[in-house]
Amino acid sequence: MPKRILILGGGTGGLVISRELREQLSADEAEIVVVDKKRFSEFRPSYLYVAVGYRKPDEIRGPLDRLAKWNIKYVNAEVKAIDAANRTVKTTAGDMKYDVLVVALGAETVPTGVPHPWELDDAMKVAEALSNFKGGTVVVATHSLPYRCPPAPVEFAMLLHYYFLARNMRDKAKIVMVHPMKRPFENFGPVAAKAMTQMLAENGIEYLGMGQAKAVNSFGNGVLEAANGEKVKYDLLFMVPPHKAPDPVLNSDLAKNGWAAPRNPATGDFRSAKYDDVYVVGDVAAPNVPVGMAGTILHSYAPWIVSNIVADVKGVSLGKPPFRVVGVCALDTGAFGMAAACDFTKFVKKEKPYPDCWFLPPSGPSRIFKELFEKMYFNWLLRWTP
Ligand SMILES: Cc1cc2nc3c(=O)[nH]c(=O)nc-3n(C[C@H](O)[C@H](O)[C@H](O)COP(=O)(O)OP(=O)(O)OC[C@H]3O[C@@H](n4cnc5c(N)ncnc54)[C@H](O)[C@@H]3O)c2cc1C
Repeated sequence: MPKRILILGGGTGGLVISRELREQLSADEAEIVVVDKKRFSEFRPSYLYVAVGYRKPDEIRGPLDRLAKWNIKYVNAEVKAIDAANRTVKTTAGDMKYDVLVVALGAETVPTGVPHPWELDDAMKVAEALSNFKGGTVVVATHSLPYRCPPAPVEFAMLLHYYFLARNMRDKAKIVMVHPMKRPFENFGPVAAKAMTQMLAENGIEYLGMGQAKAVNSFGNGVLEAANGEKVKYDLLFMVPPHKAPDPVLNSDLAKNGWAAPRNPATGDFRSAKYDDVYVVGDVAAPNVPVGMAGTILHSYAPWIVSNIVADVKGVSLGKPPFRVVGVCALDTGAFGMAAACDFTKFVKKEKPYPDCWFLPPSGPSRIFKELFEKMYFNWLLRWTP
């Protein structure tokens, strides 16, 4: 009988892991099932492009039923509960049993009523708000840590800068960022923080860094109160909302400190702290690794997870790829792009205080790099060109 590998979530983790598993396990060895409440997998980095009008939603998502092409079953259902003690997942399509479970449910955003490009529907509201904006102060706030893609608020502020420049109204728009980190990019080390501080200043973007996990006390009636008590007036507010683990994880015994708990990420062990047959990967586990929520980080350690699952199924290890935790963030800063690539491996192993980072300085080609990755993503994972 083939083993049943149940993968919860058809986002980056669900796609990368299911595809790599199928490369190594035949249908006789494993039935692979991906469960997602959405019919489409979304390329989240391009929400920023939707927000500034560069993309339409259909251009940044791919249909999950394409997985059938590789004999991977996709079930469109919402996961309601995970009962790992009984190897059962409760979903709106009924109870599902498994031999190996991969939890890749990501992080979810908590609605605040303020537009933001951290979900697709909300990104479209940003586009609408921008098209009605005639001038004034635009505040780009980040409510609190952690949130998907730590550098993205800077990218968003820079895209806004360029958006207003391109419409000949930059002098009518003041852009202010309010953020938990004292300095932008400080999680990438002091050199990155210095470079980003300088870039924002050169482009006339004010940065108010709080130096604590929560940056916003309150907002409404055109005034945002930052965590340090400072009141910032705004004509247009965008705010990265608080993030949380999805309820089925929060309400299960897979969670610790509000997020899924991997056993020992410092040694590459992403089995759940409690269950040998459950793996917790991606954003849903990132705060407990600890790394930022980034799809590229997941890409980098997925082959390692896959080799462990293949060994579980075959009962023998075929050898392991190196365990690497690497994140790449390509920022489209408007007229040009830049990229940061960070190797977190030694940081996760607690051998270094910061990741080792490299930067591609602002240039046109770096912007093309971002667009190429976007175009390649669904082509590679779903053989689909939006
Ligand atoms: C604006 C923005 C910019 C970004 N830029 C970058 C970047 O430059 N580089 C980078 O590396 N990363 C970037 N990211 C982060 C990246 O998108 C995420 O880290 C990555 O998608 C995480 O993958 P995941 O599989 O853990 O979760 P996700 O890709 O979020 O997938 C989770 C899936 O689970 C499904 N799901 C959730 N709950 C349930 C449920 N109860 N039942 C059924 N299905 C459910 C969801 O529908 C979703 O499809 C960015 C993110 C944003 C928002």
